[in-house]
Amino acid sequence: MKLLEERIQRDGIVREGNVLKVDSFINHQMDIPLFREMAKEWKRLFAGKPVNKVLTIEASGIGIAAVVASEFNVPVVFAKKSMSINLDYDNYETKIQSFTHKKIYNVIVSKKFLTAEDHVLIIDDFLANGCALMGLLDLAKEAGATVEGIGIAVEKGFQQGGELIRSKGIQLESLAIVESMNSETGEIKFREQPHQ
Ligand code: 5GP
Repeated sequence: MKLLEERIQRDGIVREGNVLKVDSFINHQMDIPLFREMAKEWKRLFAGKPVNKVLTIEASGIGIAAVVASEFNVPVVFAKKSMSINLDYDNYETKIQSFTHKKIYNVIVSKKFLTAEDHVLIIDDFLANGCALMGLLDLAKEAGATVEGIGIAVEKGFQQGGELIRSKGIQLESLAIVESMNSETGEIKFREQPHQ
């Protein structure tokens, strides 16, 4: 999506350790008109899919997912990160290794809010190694929910997550795929995506 790529070129900051900072429009301050355009693009890319719920993970996925849920006119559920080992059995539970914080989190979603009747669209801000998405897929599987697709704002194409998810045959639509980035020069290159 050109609009998002241009914004990343303009305001994204490449940090050491393969981290792209997009604090000024996604991860700290949120540009809601931009999120609305992204949501419309996912609506187009997932047209015809019977989505009845958006699923994301706290915290940074929530803002984008809320705007997407509004576009699809469905509720949004976010999986919660929990440090507690004493988890309530009324939750589905999995573990996720965080790319940015290098921690392992227990992640839960209440059985009340994710069920076998659900057809979910998973939304997240970044895709790196795919741990967050694998966790969300796990939760959906535990619930017996159908995953209709995955929408990602920024995929780092040089990390393994995209390949991992696509090899499962799931429709994955990343609105910007970073092919390479350089923390010394600040240069960012994107992968061409013909249908976007
Ligand atoms: P993964 O689980 O795919 O390795 O990493 C995805 C999660 O890590 C995302 O939900 C996002 O919060 C965070 N993340 C991974 N890479 C980056 C990055 O380069 N920049 C930012 N801002 N967050 C990232």
